[in-house]
Amino acid sequence: MGYTVTGPKVDDAEFQRRWDICMACEKRREHEGKFYCGACGCPKWGPAELTRKLRWQRLRCPLKKFGGRVDEHDMPQRLREQEKAEKTGPLKK
Ligand code: SF4
Repeated sequence: MGYTVTGPKVDDAEFQRRWDICMACEKRREHEGKFYCGACGCPKWGPAELTRKLRWQRLRCPLKKFGGRVDEHDMPQRLREQEKAEKTGPLKK
């Protein structure tokens, strides 16, 4: 499940380091002249475009090429709760 990353941003040096890794990655995808990650499950829309997405400090490459791994601990609380609810079904009253 994809989600939009928010929060602090990285400086130009870290952005460039990430960009170079993504440009050399076999999962990188190009769509209408813009670049996206093909491994994260994000749709090809504005917030997922790599020129924007790689700026977010909390972003984690799903293949651990930078920043660790996207997992439950990186998810915002509301998404963890949403995922849990989807697994367990609707709450009984
Ligand atoms: S985020 Fe990771 S998997 Fe996705 S294109 Fe960049 S290096 Fe490849």
